[in-house]
Amino acid sequence: MLIAGNWKMFRGPDPEALAGLDAIVCPPYTRLADCVAAGLTTYAQNVHWEPEGAFTGEISAPMLLELGVAGALVGHSERRQLFGETDAGVARRAEAALAAGLGVIACVGETLAERDGGHTADVLVRQTSVAFDGLRGEALERVVIAYEPVWAIGTGRVATPEQARESHQLVRATLDRVTGAHSGARVPVLYGGSVTAANASALFAEAEVDGALVGGASLDAAAFFRIATAAAAG
Ligand code: PEP
Repeated sequence: MLIAGNWKMFRGPDPEALAGLDAIVCPPYTRLADCVAAGLTTYAQNVHWEPEGAFTGEISAPMLLELGVAGALVGHSERRQLFGETDAGVARRAEAALAAGLGVIACVGETLAERDGGHTADVLVRQTSVAFDGLRGEALERVVIAYEPVWAIGTGRVATPEQARESHQLVRATLDRVTGAHSGARVPVLYGGSVTAANASALFAEAEVDGALVGGASLDAAAFFRIATAAAAG
């Protein structure tokens, strides 16, 4: 089981308070160094595809490596919806991070309108296949996918274990197809969307769920520890 906490644009808990936590933390850029210094496995919330250049406001993979950061989220739905990130851009970010030696947690997931319109499968296949088309070799070992239905993020409305299972199976089958390897079984697929200490165990009991990407509940150190404990038990 793998647990990751996305602090978004919140200051987040004191990194020292998370000592001993078996989880990835994704703090804002300004707190990356503190989290690394506290010995936490630290991922950035995004990464640019070029190593350097005139890209105001962006941070590159070599810059993250220099800080001791272990990886980056790519394709979070807030990046896609609020900042216009495209499938192709997400693919470039993932490729650059992997080429630099970083890990990647790539987020995929449908909006409520897409689910209600019967387009969930199309969206998951498109987002997964564009992000990792043709990826081969050792880099696959550093890929994690987070299935995050947009309607479940920050809403208190959590997907059922059955909904997660169905989507995770589709993501794995798509990975198998586009990477040409049996990577679907090896790449961890996390669930994300309103995970709390109260609902985590039921999700972790589903065999297709390899862990969770946690937003709001990761801002509370005690709640995040409880989720990590549930993962260790599940
Ligand atoms: C997220 O932002 O990735 C997320 C899953 O948020 P929340 O847990 O708050 O729904």
